[in-house]
Amino acid sequence: MKVLIVGAGFTGAVIARELANNGHVCHIIDQRDHIAGNCYTQRDKDTNIMEHIYGPHIFHTSDEEVWEYINNFGEFYPYINRVKTTYNGEVYSLPINLHTINQFYKKSFSPSQAKKWIEQIADNKIEEPKNFEEQALKFIGKDLYEAFFKGYTKKQWGCDPKKLPASILKRLPVRFNYDDNYFSHKYQGIPKDGYTSIIEKILEHENIKVQINTSFYKDMIKDYDHIVWTGKLDEWFDYSEGHLGYRTLDFIKYTEEGDYQGTAVMNYGNEKVPYTRISEHKYFTPWEKHEKTIYFKEYSRECGVDDIPYYPIRLVDDKTILEKYLQKAEREKNVTFAGRLGTYSYMDMDVTIKEALTLSKNILKKLDRI
Ligand SMILES: Cc1cc2nc3c(=O)[nH]c(=O)nc-3n(C[C@H](O)[C@H](O)[C@H](O)COP(=O)(O)OP(=O)(O)OC[C@H]3O[C@@H](n4cnc5c(N)ncnc54)[C@H](O)[C@@H]3O)c2cc1C
Repeated sequence: MKVLIVGAGFTGAVIARELANNGHVCHIIDQRDHIAGNCYTQRDKDTNIMEHIYGPHIFHTSDEEVWEYINNFGEFYPYINRVKTTYNGEVYSLPINLHTINQFYKKSFSPSQAKKWIEQIADNKIEEPKNFEEQALKFIGKDLYEAFFKGYTKKQWGCDPKKLPASILKRLPVRFNYDDNYFSHKYQGIPKDGYTSIIEKILEHENIKVQINTSFYKDMIKDYDHIVWTGKLDEWFDYSEGHLGYRTLDFIKYTEEGDYQGTAVMNYGNEKVPYTRISEHKYFTPWEKHEKTIYFKEYSRECGVDDIPYYPIRLVDDKTILEKYLQKAEREKNVTFAGRLGTYSYMDMDVTIKEALTLSKNILKKLDRI
């Protein structure tokens, strides 16, 4: 069968490969001038540092199938994501752990002492948290909430945390030990040659034709038996039910001699600092040596029509619109909606790959029935 796949990110590439392995002919297009979607990496011309063009990407998973799959297409070096944050001119360790609590309150608590302390400062009057702010106050109290969540969340989502659902913060966001590993998955790493090389290898198959600088137009449909759409869900339906809301990011790049901040990611908790974080990319490849450095200030704002959609907002209005599009999508028998844009959901790379592998099986069954 002939399949058109719109979007050459992880989703499109994995699906193309699975279908191609089963004898189908895949034509994969992308409107950008490169493959790999938002995971695109390339060496900076001036410094030779591996640059994560659409923001830093660290691979982490506990899924054996996904880890085995990705390792077929590139070599991963171990990497532990350790994030720091600056608040009121002081630097703290994240996620909030025993070190953070001891730094913040100038104490030397043991785990059990810290637990008791947090229980005392948490807002016990809140029984049923109605929003994100109340949930955070109930868990960690006002001081830690303001230092580590309030300003950052406001900048990231462009709204008061009182407007965000409590469900965002499901568990107590505190560790009562000195573990500052941002992720708790079994496997964590960065590909030695970047993500673009991995996706290039996934797409290296005689049944796959890749075409970049190519936007989808509806007339293409007639030449194919099936379409896999990893673009925006609302775009497929010409925005007939309205626009699904996204946040976009602006990255301002700086190049300097030596080091800038001594670590890969530094968050900024104060609301008056306009950016959310600074990432210094040579720290994502600690096995390489670079005399110069590149770093990026990251600013979050509402996504306009010509901006790159990064994070789905998924507030109440968006969910109402989403429901309408999902009903329409259900009726499109020859189209599979996939990936972060096609399903309007935030997905890490491991989840993206897992979903793409599962979807491929469904598509293969559909193609068998045609
Ligand atoms: C700032 C940021 C940091 C992240 N960090 C991490 C991390 O550390 N670890 C992690 O696991 N995940 C991370 N992610 C998530 C990761 O980026 C996604 O899991 C991944 O990009 C999803 O792949 P995708 O193929 O679904 O979407 P995309 O990568 O967005 O690919 C979709 C592609 O479709 C193309 N397209 C869309 N519409 C059309 C059209 N009409 N015609 C032609 N082409 C079209 C686009 O150009 C794009 O290339 C991060 C995401 C963001 C936003």
